[in-house]
Amino acid sequence: MTAWVGLDVGGTYLKGALVSEAGEVRGRLHERIVRDDPGRLLDQLAAAVATLEADGGPSAGAGIGLPGIVERLTARLHAAPNLSLLDGMRVGEEVGRRCGRMAVIENDANAAALAEAWRGGGRGARSVLFVTLGTGIGGGLVFDGRVWGGVSGYAGEIGHIQVDPCGEPCGCGSRGCLETVAGIAGWVRRAYALLETGAASPLRGRELDPAVIVEAAVAGDPLAREVVDGAAAALGVGIAAALQLLNLDRVVIGGGVAQAGSFLLERIVEQTRRRSFPHVFADCAFAPATLGNDAGVIGAARVAMLANAGGHGPKPA
Ligand SMILES: [Zn+2]
Repeated sequence: MTAWVGLDVGGTYLKGALVSEAGEVRGRLHERIVRDDPGRLLDQLAAAVATLEADGGPSAGAGIGLPGIVERLTARLHAAPNLSLLDGMRVGEEVGRRCGRMAVIENDANAAALAEAWRGGGRGARSVLFVTLGTGIGGGLVFDGRVWGGVSGYAGEIGHIQVDPCGEPCGCGSRGCLETVAGIAGWVRRAYALLETGAASPLRGRELDPAVIVEAAVAGDPLAREVVDGAAAALGVGIAAALQLLNLDRVVIGGGVAQAGSFLLERIVEQTRRRSFPHVFADCAFAPATLGNDAGVIGAARVAMLANAGGHGPKPA
């Protein structure tokens, strides 16, 4: 069966896999990326394709997930603060030329959304919103098995829906974005603010992150519950906005913070219910992501499969 290479390029690490047309991962690669020269980084990506093929057999092409916006019309990478050395470049074309294969690029959250819709928590749904909870809040929309990137590739950025007009400034230039409230820094900021009021809590004196806070909330600590409920409410505002606008049939929640489990997911679902038409809410099932760290590479490979079939990716400029 034909195989495809999926690469997931982060700010520090490159992950890669050879993926079958059924979505099975055959071989993996994980290495630190070259950060001093764009040409050497592109060489590294092409070499990763060759390495995966040497280990697992030939591929028909490669998909590359990148931490930035992939401009639909030009196939250039934009707005990539964690990978600025490739900013403005046609990364797919450059890698494809170096490795002698078709290579296409996609935003990393969109690639993960595509993977979850195809083989993960969104399987069987027609319209999927994928939300990833971590340092930031990423998102992607998949309709009928295809990423909906919008006119130029900027769609799906649920983390930058404003949930608090008077909130903290956001890196995007706005303030009170969902990411500022429900990203990791938002959880920690809220917990410290509540601790400063003098309330008793087992969180006092501990190094805080969402997992620690959820653990205390599950054990019944009222302060920790308030932090969890605040994050869940903000996520409910953002997800309900998407549901009211799009009437989706699946929301898939993933990312490191989501590993806190059902305690958090149940609260997000309840906060979404309060803000949605009953019918819109009833139409939508909520599911945890199931592919974990493989979502990025499986989705990138899927991008290449669909591009080869004429169903994904930018038109040639
Ligand atoms: Zn923002």
